[in-house]
Amino acid sequence: MGGTATEQARAATEDRDLAEPVSTPEIVSYEPATGAEIWRGRPCDVDEAVSRARRAWPAWAAQPLATRIELLRRFANEVRQDAEPLAVMIAREVGKPLWEARAEVDGVIAKVETSIRAYAERTSQRKLDSALQGTMAVRHKPHGVLVVLGPFNFPAHLPSAHIVPALLAGNAVIFKPSEKAPASGERLARCFHRAGISASVLQLALGGPLEGQGFVAHEGIDGVLFTGSASTGISINRRLAARPDKLVALEMGGNNPIVLWDTPKLTDAAALIVQSAFASAGQRCTAARRLIVKGTLYDAAIAEVKALADRVIVGAPFDDPAPFMGPVIDASAADGLTESFLYLLSNGGRAIKHLVRGDESLPFLSPAIIDTTAMKERPDVELFGPILQVIRVDDFDQAIAEANRTRFGLAASLVGGSPQDYNRFWANVRAGIVNWNRATTGPSHAAPMGGVGLSGNHRPSGYYAADYCAYPVASGELEQPRAAIGVGLR
Ligand code: NAD
Repeated sequence: MGGTATEQARAATEDRDLAEPVSTPEIVSYEPATGAEIWRGRPCDVDEAVSRARRAWPAWAAQPLATRIELLRRFANEVRQDAEPLAVMIAREVGKPLWEARAEVDGVIAKVETSIRAYAERTSQRKLDSALQGTMAVRHKPHGVLVVLGPFNFPAHLPSAHIVPALLAGNAVIFKPSEKAPASGERLARCFHRAGISASVLQLALGGPLEGQGFVAHEGIDGVLFTGSASTGISINRRLAARPDKLVALEMGGNNPIVLWDTPKLTDAAALIVQSAFASAGQRCTAARRLIVKGTLYDAAIAEVKALADRVIVGAPFDDPAPFMGPVIDASAADGLTESFLYLLSNGGRAIKHLVRGDESLPFLSPAIIDTTAMKERPDVELFGPILQVIRVDDFDQAIAEANRTRFGLAASLVGGSPQDYNRFWANVRAGIVNWNRATTGPSHAAPMGGVGLSGNHRPSGYYAADYCAYPVASGELEQPRAAIGVGLR
């Protein structure tokens, strides 16, 4: 989400549509770490993409499930074969360290088997026999043509977390990667095509917000599977408010808390906090934005966290030694984060570790930590970058109240504390991911992935993506008609 803290607060709160996006004759992708152009291309024709997908869908839906499974396993193999070039492309295009881009590609591969299991488990065919009514069967059908709108931060893994379950269920998919990561999207799409899934069944449609809006509003689209910012998600939701017939799955951002309570293991706690706040330069939906810390631990804990954050290497994706984190996605994101940090500073925040941009021409930012306990009003926005706010509290009730002081509800972690504390935390904190002594980031493939509040619309992805990719059909079935009307006849 770009812009300053106040602008973002407005964007995520106001009941208004986003500014009308302007059409761009070309999409150009730049390497954040160097500023070099790496890709350019023309945006798609939305009408043409939709009619092509509509024509392809019935034949794909009619394929036996076993065929679709086989083709998706071939896709996993294609990604395996292309793993290193794909990881290099992701690292270049979004600036994440190569080791992290490799882990993203591993995630894409693993997702296929998990999706196959999830489809079988969550949308399995069931028959409920009853002597009088014959058979009652529950089966699932695909929706039709779904558009997947991808974010920039995991340009392969997150789109494929929608695409794979959607194809498995028998939908045709139009995949519009983020305009900030078209080259990674294109490379991912090629793996589907090489696996034998046609370019009409899984269609790559390049474009930005304008094309995104075009798909959302298009009559020929049966559903929108979106991962991105809350402001865009709200705008999509509003656009489809009068269309309950369309499937809308929104995976949005968070203002995630990590609560530090009694623990003798402050060094481990600091590692979890730094990992949660600064992995991917803070550009993860599950990143910890707010560290809520018990007053008596404050000095020792903050000293540990700061000492570790001071050791974090910020660098380009292919640097040696490998960096912990790379740049943020672009100059406008770096400018917005800098302004947000200054806003916090000038409104009662106390810097523990300043946000530093070493080279004004590139979007590398250092990890930053700021104590915002004294702020009268803390903007409840997602600062999508390496800024961790610290809030000091006296007791556990206050910690839970602080954790819940947000309209979002994606991820929350308790570090330290007793089993009783964790029980209270789990029961009272509103979030789709609630962890104990684990980072807020790095959700499991085998679990649902979604949030409450402004973080989603109750259609979690991850293991539960199978649920929104197909709809259940209940069928009462008898081999022959057998009926008689018992009352009310002359
Ligand atoms: P974004 O909202 O700017 O863009 C996401 C996608 O939506 C892009 O493909 C974009 O072109 C498209 N889009 C933009 N405006 C649109 C409109 N008006 N109508 C239709 N489509 C439109 O998000 P981003 O900056 O690429 O990604 C970062 C955001 O994604 C963060 O807020 C992060 O928290 C969130 N995110 C959420 C999850 C999750 O699983 N909950 C995962 C990763 C990222």
